[in-house]
Amino acid sequence: MSLTKLSSFRAIGKSVDTVRMNVNNIKEALPPVGDEGTGTSKALDDQPITTGRPLEKGMSLSLWLQSVRNNPLLNHRTTEELPKTADVVVIGSGITGSLTALSLLQSSNPPKSVVLLEARELCSGATGRNAGHCKPDQWRGFTKYKELYGTEEALKILANEQKTWEGVVQYIKEHKVDCDLWVGKTLDVLMTDDVAAIAAKTFADYKEAGGDVSKIQVTIDQQEAEKISRLKGAKAVYAWDASNLHPWKIVAHINKRSLDLGLNLQTWTPVTRITGSSNNWKIHTDRGEINTPVVIHATNAYAGALLPETKGAIRPCPHMCNKVLPPSTFAGSQSLKNSYAVIYPTGSYTINPRFTSDGILLFGGAAPNQPKLLDYVAEDQSRRIDDSLTNFEPVTDAVKKLGTEGFEWDNPERGSEVLYDYAWSGIIGRSADQVPFIGAVPGKEGQWMCAGHNGHGMARIFTCAPALAELVLGSTWQDTGLPNCFQVTKERLERHLDAEAATSLGAKL
Ligand SMILES: Cc1cc2nc3c(=O)[nH]c(=O)nc-3n(C[C@H](O)[C@H](O)[C@H](O)COP(=O)(O)OP(=O)(O)OC[C@H]3O[C@@H](n4cnc5c(N)ncnc54)[C@H](O)[C@@H]3O)c2cc1C
Repeated sequence: MSLTKLSSFRAIGKSVDTVRMNVNNIKEALPPVGDEGTGTSKALDDQPITTGRPLEKGMSLSLWLQSVRNNPLLNHRTTEELPKTADVVVIGSGITGSLTALSLLQSSNPPKSVVLLEARELCSGATGRNAGHCKPDQWRGFTKYKELYGTEEALKILANEQKTWEGVVQYIKEHKVDCDLWVGKTLDVLMTDDVAAIAAKTFADYKEAGGDVSKIQVTIDQQEAEKISRLKGAKAVYAWDASNLHPWKIVAHINKRSLDLGLNLQTWTPVTRITGSSNNWKIHTDRGEINTPVVIHATNAYAGALLPETKGAIRPCPHMCNKVLPPSTFAGSQSLKNSYAVIYPTGSYTINPRFTSDGILLFGGAAPNQPKLLDYVAEDQSRRIDDSLTNFEPVTDAVKKLGTEGFEWDNPERGSEVLYDYAWSGIIGRSADQVPFIGAVPGKEGQWMCAGHNGHGMARIFTCAPALAELVLGSTWQDTGLPNCFQVTKERLERHLDAEAATSLGAKL
């Protein structure tokens, strides 16, 4: 049975298939921020969802991981042997696992022992491979979120992103974290009249619903839009505050603080399985076992490998990030001054220039050719978790097309030419219903999760991870202040469980 059929068969509320139907060809709703690079592929949608543990050999190296090869935290092990017991075991050292561990350790009633297990190098999953963009969705996802969860929740989701972004910036400033922070205007550039019309309606609906538009600058004059964005053919521009940063460095900072508070960090220690029962779990690794009452799954795209009940809900999917050196005409004082989403009816690009460091441009997600990447994955399901992929040509071609047709980078009158230098891959944890899964794992007392962040974890996790720590320490969901739709529930997981997982679990959950 195809996923789409299964989702509609089980439908409780709307499935993401309904919501994504226009992503390859935007007709009604714009993709929320972080969902630009989704795309769809019939070949992939017709297959059961597979997952697995992170690749331990041959993975590509992102710009971030390339820049910290001499950092001892990469392969840090606090103790030579694994401890036999721990109060809390966190699995996964991306921004989710690292921040959850710190939040626990700096709470007023911290656990006595916290172990953080990472399958590979520190922060070598999606966080260490993303485009470094922290862009809160201030309005664009309103239509889709409203369609899925109603007006009130849609407003809460967008307000939470603003709060998250503010939290990230505050953390970096307060602790003077050396991580190339930039704060400035991000631009959503609408490239056809059709998408500009959808944007105008989304914005008006959001405003009418009581959304805060006070910080968003709107330009609908085409000439002005082209001037602001420097993109030929731009029809409208929406601008608001966002950031970029070196994601590995902020995670390293978080871990340094945790280590000072007693964290036991163990890299290169994949968890192979978890056995036991309520509040009495055994974490199995090739280096030994740890007994613990509390397990925190911060494995994002790989969640399904240890929690099969999440297989349909959280779908691993590779994503490319392209490193581009702009031509001389876009360098120095003429360099880009903003980060971007460039939105066409056939998909969107995100562009994240490294303003405060080397001026390199990162293209995270080339949706116009994203379906080709998904078709490639459909040929061999093990590619869902294969982050060894580099320089995937169709995606790089889409990036070149924007460089040529949008920015007119070809044949500069003088100076160096544009260099489409390198592209690496990372594995995104796609949420089947657009929002993350946070809270207690149903039916497994003492196990907790925070995963399924789409291409958007940087504008979500800084509130979600501390909230998870609060829940572990005894707070209620209402105390966390997160949108209700983020909470993981048995019903929510069941709704998205794919046919294969349903068979192997006896559809019980
Ligand atoms: C190419 C790309 C570009 C992106 N661009 C952006 C962007 O610009 N802005 C944005 O907001 N988001 C972006 N994202 C998404 C963002 O990176 C993620 O949402 C976020 O980093 C998720 O963080 P995490 O800690 O939950 O997961 P991860 O960073 O993936 O961490 C999970 C960790 O768990 C470990 N692990 C998994 N299984 C096991 C196991 N069995 N045992 C031990 N360890 C295990 C993994 O090795 C990994 O280190 C992008 C993602 C990709 C791939």
